[in-house]
Amino acid sequence: MHRFWSTLGFPKSGVGATDNTLTGSNTFPELLANSGELITFYDRNYRLTHSTARFKALRGPTVTEGASLFDLYPGLAAGEARVALEQVLVDGQSNAINVTSGSNREGMVLVFVTAAGLGLVELTDGIAITAATKAEHSKLLHQATHDVLTGLQNRQRFSERLNEILATNDNVRERSALLQIDLDDFKSVNDTLGHATGDALLKLAANRIRSVLQDGDSAFRYAGDEFAIVQYGKDASDAEIVAQALVESFKAPFIINDMPLFVGASVGIAYGPQHGAESSELMKAADIALYAAKRDGRGCVRVFNRSMLLLLEQRENLRRNLRLALERKELDLEYQPLVHASGQIVGFEALVRWNHSEIGLIPPNVFIPIAEADGLMDDIGRWVLEEACRQAKTWPDTLSVAVNLSPAQFLGGSLTDTVAQVIDSSGIRADRLELEITESVLLEQTVDNLDTLNTLNVLGIRISLDDFGTHYSSLSYLKNFPFDSLKIDQYFIKDLDIDGKSQTIVRAIIGLAHGLDMMVTAEGVETARQAEWLIKEGCDLLQGHHLGRAMSAERARVFASKAGASLNFRQRIR
Ligand code: C2E
Ligand code: MG
Ligand code: MG
Repeated sequence: MHRFWSTLGFPKSGVGATDNTLTGSNTFPELLANSGELITFYDRNYRLTHSTARFKALRGPTVTEGASLFDLYPGLAAGEARVALEQVLVDGQSNAINVTSGSNREGMVLVFVTAAGLGLVELTDGIAITAATKAEHSKLLHQATHDVLTGLQNRQRFSERLNEILATNDNVRERSALLQIDLDDFKSVNDTLGHATGDALLKLAANRIRSVLQDGDSAFRYAGDEFAIVQYGKDASDAEIVAQALVESFKAPFIINDMPLFVGASVGIAYGPQHGAESSELMKAADIALYAAKRDGRGCVRVFNRSMLLLLEQRENLRRNLRLALERKELDLEYQPLVHASGQIVGFEALVRWNHSEIGLIPPNVFIPIAEADGLMDDIGRWVLEEACRQAKTWPDTLSVAVNLSPAQFLGGSLTDTVAQVIDSSGIRADRLELEITESVLLEQTVDNLDTLNTLNVLGIRISLDDFGTHYSSLSYLKNFPFDSLKIDQYFIKDLDIDGKSQTIVRAIIGLAHGLDMMVTAEGVETARQAEWLIKEGCDLLQGHHLGRAMSAERARVFASKAGASLNFRQRIR
């Protein structure tokens, strides 16, 4: 007896009945839900009214009420099969019909009459799953498990695969490696060049990831610009070889709309079961390694080790304490002199320090990124501005004060108000305040930030472009915004004496700035020879240990008030 009859609980002859209230122990809904058969019911227009859960499961979401019997079984649409089908409706006798056509598998269906129309049960299991529907199935399956944009496997598959291999990961030889990948500066591309460019970049990036895979590796995209590679049963060195090849492959530009874009990749590696026997543990370890790769200058590979956890804990600790630093008055400003080529001190740059009660002095390069990430930069930035202006008010009024702004201070939208209020309350002349920004400010939210800079400019505040030459150095910024000065990064100054290339670059920046009516400051001037060379080339202002290190507010005040200070500097410079 075919399984169908036993499901329904009555002998084969009983199916000839003309209503669909099936007898036996099964109610109709139970039959649909529990039958192991592929059964469908249709109205007299051959439109689907009901089907068993198993049929739905096999055919997927294309099975909806109203679907045509002939779409589901194209083999019944014409020829002898169609004649036999119609005959069932005419004489009320159930009939086993042979279905063959095109790509259909050959097989038998039993068609029977019901009160509403027809019922159909597959006697040869799976005839309806034609080649076409199989293709559709695999397409649906692909969509459910792959990222539409890049075609890589998606987050869901990632978790499944990771759990899968960790479950079999019971000896060291069968170790697995998780490579967590993050693109450097993807956000800037997305923000400045738009999402279409961002998407194009992600696709190209996915291709580069594919290109470095070894046999058996799987690659995934599981969020924004976050990718992963999973390796299984290989040597540890294989993961590092793949990671290194990946970082290398990201050094070539991505060409999008004929424009070359440079976007690097950082990779963090963790090994299972050594660094994590559970997927969440392994992911955390790889993430920590990725964080270390980013911190160590991006575009590099780091393998997880326990000491990274320690660093992370320290950072967490700093993060918690930083919130209290302002309240506890642990922040402090130092002032580094800015000296004119003539030897005259023209002002000071305010540099923030954190005097942690237990750790001691923490440099800004360590805590400012934390403050930015934690949304504390608005408060810290405001305090720096207030404090710097308050101190400058005590200096001779020919001296200016330069304050660094972080990109995060541009995000809240209240920067211009804050600056205007601080100028007002401190009583300092607006043209004595200079704000230093880096190119990253212009990379993000370009239009809004340019508006902000223009408003600040209208207030009479001077704006300088800090660390020029090391980041994008896009000349379009110089065309779009009238900076008062460019500060050449110390990277080009430190080897001026020995490197002809640095000389050429510095000479070119000086020429460029002067051509655009901007002043030029050289940062990090450490020797008399560097100072001499810079002055000979026409550099306007110098800053660096040779001219003076950053000093306390107290010392800066004394320094600033000494009438002869400029003479001392002239000696130092010449
Ligand atoms: P920056 O604005 O480029 O500041 C110059 C940095 O170079 C300072 O480091 C300064 O002490 C150092 N420096 C000056 N002369 C020399 C020299 O001759 N040789 C060498 N090797 N270094 C020299 P510092 O104080 O550690 O500040 C680092 C960076 O932190 C600053 O770079 C600036 O970007 C940021 N920063 C400092 N204070 C603030 C602040 O209040 N707000 C914001 N947003 N950023 C700040
Ligand atoms: Mg600066
Ligand atoms: Mg600088």
